Amino acid sequence: MKKIYSSVCVLMLSVTITFAQQTPLEKNNYSQITSYGELSGFVNELDKSSDLLTVEIIGKSVENRNLYVMKFSNTEFGKDENKISVLIFAQQHGNEQSGKEGALLLASNLLKPENRYLFEKIDFALIPQMNPDGSEKNMRRNGNDADLNRNHLILTEPETIALHKLFDKYLFEATMDVHEYFPYGDTWKNYGARFNNDEEIGTNTNINVSDEIRNFQKKKYLSFIKNYLNERRFTYFEYSPGGPPEIDYIRHSTFDINDGRQSLGIQNTFSFIQEGLNGKDNFVDNIRHRAEGQMTGMIGLLEFCFNYKDEIKNLVQKEREKLISNDVPNNVAVQLEHFPDGSKLELPLLSYYSNNDTIVTVNDYRPAVKSIYNVQRPKGYLIPKSLLEIIEWTDKHSLTYSNYKKSDDEQIEQYYISRIDSMDFERDTVVDPAVEVKEIKKSFREDEYIFIPVSQLKNNLIVTALEPKSEIGLVTYKKFEYLLNVGKDFPILRVVSRQ
Ligand SMILES: [Zn+2]
Repeated sequence: MKKIYSSVCVLMLSVTITFAQQTPLEKNNYSQITSYGELSGFVNELDKSSDLLTVEIIGKSVENRNLYVMKFSNTEFGKDENKISVLIFAQQHGNEQSGKEGALLLASNLLKPENRYLFEKIDFALIPQMNPDGSEKNMRRNGNDADLNRNHLILTEPETIALHKLFDKYLFEATMDVHEYFPYGDTWKNYGARFNNDEEIGTNTNINVSDEIRNFQKKKYLSFIKNYLNERRFTYFEYSPGGPPEIDYIRHSTFDINDGRQSLGIQNTFSFIQEGLNGKDNFVDNIRHRAEGQMTGMIGLLEFCFNYKDEIKNLVQKEREKLISNDVPNNVAVQLEHFPDGSKLELPLLSYYSNNDTIVTVNDYRPAVKSIYNVQRPKGYLIPKSLLEIIEWTDKHSLTYSNYKKSDDEQIEQYYISRIDSMDFERDTVVDPAVEVKEIKKSFREDEYIFIPVSQLKNNLIVTALEPKSEIGLVTYKKFEYLLNVGKDFPILRVVSRQ
């Protein structure tokens, strides 16, 4: 809340901020998860207690609950260009309670005087609860039975739409999506050991994201956060799904761009996923340690952004400018695969037999992501105005588009779908159409199309979404599968430079 009272309030204010306010979890002595009602009360109470914090409602859930953002700034949020803007959002999955609890602990701790220095360099936005409807039932999905963390490309849900509108407004330079992982499944029980790291963190893995950003994340951030967590008695490992070892390969997280990390990462954002260890027997199991681990990982990101503010800002700005001016590789990888790089992974696990920590050497380790199919980046795409869902989709992503007037140095390409095969995608199956490209020379009505140029921040996202052979594109979703028909033309056209 902005200070609107006279200076007589300053004394009272300085008294209230000296003591961190207890979160509902702390007040309940860690025996009960924070309800939506308690969360609403708490964030509004914190808002009133500090001039550093402004709480806003960015949208409503399917069941009409508020989605809150807590904006921390010692000036006007988003206005000081010397600061780095950081966004953390938690609990997209309603049954992953420690992200929300850690976020509330974080909010309370950030108002302590000793943490105020962070806001000399950072404007920080925190969404403690992305999925209040799921949280109330302790269920993964939202009120429409949608998995929010698979919804960031198609944006059909109010919760993900609200997040992306917030992102598009401030274009945060660093972001983190906070989850929990569940290592207690039967395949691991049968294997005899499981993951037991307090926190696992993943970087951008889609290779269309700037190499420099991905290298900086891996080399600088992961080593920093490992030490940061270890020094505070939390165990850490790079997020490594797959397995169990030699039964199935171990990789790093998905290259799909439909999750909270990569949908922002593909815009050359310094973007992460943080996965805390899920409660073993029930969701309050060990919740204090879990919530504190999540909070520590989040503060770690803020500390890192404070320490490396200029490096991150300069890198992100430079790499985003390349997307906007289209100074990017001509090839875009639209089908990708995980490959070995010759290294073996030393994987820390907890043995089910001895209950001791153990290290397993993983031979089938595939940390490298490589392209298995590229497309040439066009100048842009033409969308028939009759495809209302796609027009609506472009608006949800705040894409720039215009009417089209063909120039002499351009040609229009259309795909013909000759066959639809399928392919493996991270042990899932998706469509893989066979296409033929032809040039449209006549019978083309410019006024029936909108033109989406790729020369904008979402350059790589646009190509990845709209290409019919994209393994992670719109046509792989039920809602858009009607775009692909054997023996028919693909309705979205490509504008390319005349050869
Ligand atoms: Zn999750």
